[in-house]
Amino acid sequence: MRVIAAIVLVLSAIVPVAAQSRNDPNALARQGVTAMEQGRFGDALDAFTQASKLVPRDPSLCVGAGVAAFRLGQNDEAEVWLQRALTLDPALTAASQWLGEVQYRDGQVKDAIATYEAALKRDPKATALEKRLAEWQKETQLQERFYESRGAHFSVLFEGPSDELLARRVVEHLEAAYWRIGAALTAYPQKPITVVLYTTEQFRDITRLPTWTAAAYDGRIRVPIRGAFNQADELDRVLSHEYVHAVVAMLGGRNVPVWLNEGLAVTFEPGGTADAEQVLQRVSSRPPLAKLHASFMDLSSADARVAYALSAHAVRRMLDLRGPYAIIALLQDLARGGDFASAFGLRMAMRYEDFQALVARE
Ligand SMILES: [Zn+2]
Repeated sequence: MRVIAAIVLVLSAIVPVAAQSRNDPNALARQGVTAMEQGRFGDALDAFTQASKLVPRDPSLCVGAGVAAFRLGQNDEAEVWLQRALTLDPALTAASQWLGEVQYRDGQVKDAIATYEAALKRDPKATALEKRLAEWQKETQLQERFYESRGAHFSVLFEGPSDELLARRVVEHLEAAYWRIGAALTAYPQKPITVVLYTTEQFRDITRLPTWTAAAYDGRIRVPIRGAFNQADELDRVLSHEYVHAVVAMLGGRNVPVWLNEGLAVTFEPGGTADAEQVLQRVSSRPPLAKLHASFMDLSSADARVAYALSAHAVRRMLDLRGPYAIIALLQDLARGGDFASAFGLRMAMRYEDFQALVARE
């Protein structure tokens, strides 16, 4: 979703003049927008929160705070702000748009649908909402005929009784990953994680990911299953990988560079580090890490392989240099809205540029 466009649109109405003071809501709102544009979501949340204390009845400031909290991965906080915006102005489509998205990412698909349906009743011309709503309806219709298998920390949705054995195997693999990765990182998700098992066609249809992707995590672990996992090792690898994304989202929010997120996921796959080193040995040039902060989804399958391998190599190097606790602390800094290069320098005791030069040559 285009973060900035929606907020700037909302805020431009209330920020007519430049102003200076910490007690000036207009100045604070502008600071919030600038911080958002620069990816400093913690600063943005502070600025909008402060502005909202000064002008508590302004719904657009609540939207600003809600979006900043969402970007930090603080879904509960985001939901409170966006609900408050809608209480103040039920017709504020941007607030509904973000609230629905937060609810969806938090696994509350039915609430997300209700939010968009209510918004569309008020503003039938909001076509962006209509499109997203149709996707969510399709997804729930599909899942209404799904069965559920539960473990202590996971629940698995699957389509037919013939998949039940597989669903139980999925739970077993994930419970093992929960303890193995939890022990390595000393981090355990507090809420149960939902896993959805799809046929390959359903998976492409719902996620719209490139064909080289093996699975996905977007608040739920989504795995295309039929025929793809004849070997237990492959299933274990994919589930471990996606589980790490759930842990990273819990610790670091949505502001984590993709290379760090994918690097951790590959590193905790059984055999992941060794595979990555093999890939790197076969290539002559490596992309700079700075080019791997955004999604890999637009990369070709060959470039993606190198990107994943280099990411894993970089994470291995971080673990060797400072151990898992430094990485956890770095992720937590990012969740509070810290700038990546500064947080990296602090936690790794090394400048990010120097680290990039190191992983580029070794
Ligand atoms: Zn991944």
